[in-house]
Amino acid sequence: TSSLQMELTAAIRNIPDYPKPGIMFRDITTLLGNPRAFRRAIDELVHPYAGTKIDKIAGVEARGFIMGGAMAHQMSSGFVPIRKKGKLPHDTVRIAYSLEYGVDEMEMHRDAITPGEKVILVDDLIATGGTAEGAVKLLTQMGADIVAACFIIDLPDLGGRKKLEALGVNVHTLIE
Ligand code: IMP
Repeated sequence: TSSLQMELTAAIRNIPDYPKPGIMFRDITTLLGNPRAFRRAIDELVHPYAGTKIDKIAGVEARGFIMGGAMAHQMSSGFVPIRKKGKLPHDTVRIAYSLEYGVDEMEMHRDAITPGEKVILVDDLIATGGTAEGAVKLLTQMGADIVAACFIIDLPDLGGRKKLEALGVNVHTLIE
C-alpha cells in the first residue's frame, strides 16, 4: 500500500448501516474537506492524461460533479453533467440503469458532446458498475471517444471494474 493510498483511505469516513443495515457507506465528504487529500486525489486522477488533450470531463451526479469540476479546471477541459432524470432543461438523451435494487434513469444534454470528442468519465466510487455502465452507454450513443472512467474508490468484490472493462473502457481507480 502506497503513502497515497494510505492518505486517501485515512481521509475517507466509513459509516456502518447506511443507507441500510449491513451496508458500509464510504463517505468522501471528509476527503473533500481535507485540503491536502482533495488535491492529491485530483492530481492522481488527472496524472495519466498529462499531455493528452481531453475535450470533456463527464461527471455523474452528485459527487462526480465536485471531482469532475476540479479535474476539468486542471486539464483545461469542458465539463458535462450526467444527471438524474428531469433535472436538465434542454433536449436530453436518457438511459435506464440498474441499481442494487431496481432501476433508475439518467440523462445528459443531447448537444453536450460533439461526436469524436475525447471524454473522461468520473464518479467517486464504483460498486456494481451499473451507474457507470449507464453513463458509458449515454456517452457512446452521443459519439464520445471515452478515454477512461475514473473513480477514487473501487469496491472490487462487486465487479464494476470488470463490467466496464468488458465494454472496452479503461478504468482508473485510486484505492480499493
Ligand atoms: P454502482 O452503480 O453499483 O457501481 O454504484 C455506484 C454509485 O453509487 C455511484 O454513483 C456512487 O456514488 C454510489 N455509491 C454506492 N455505494 C457508495 C458508497 O459506499 N459511498 C459513496 N457512494 C456510493
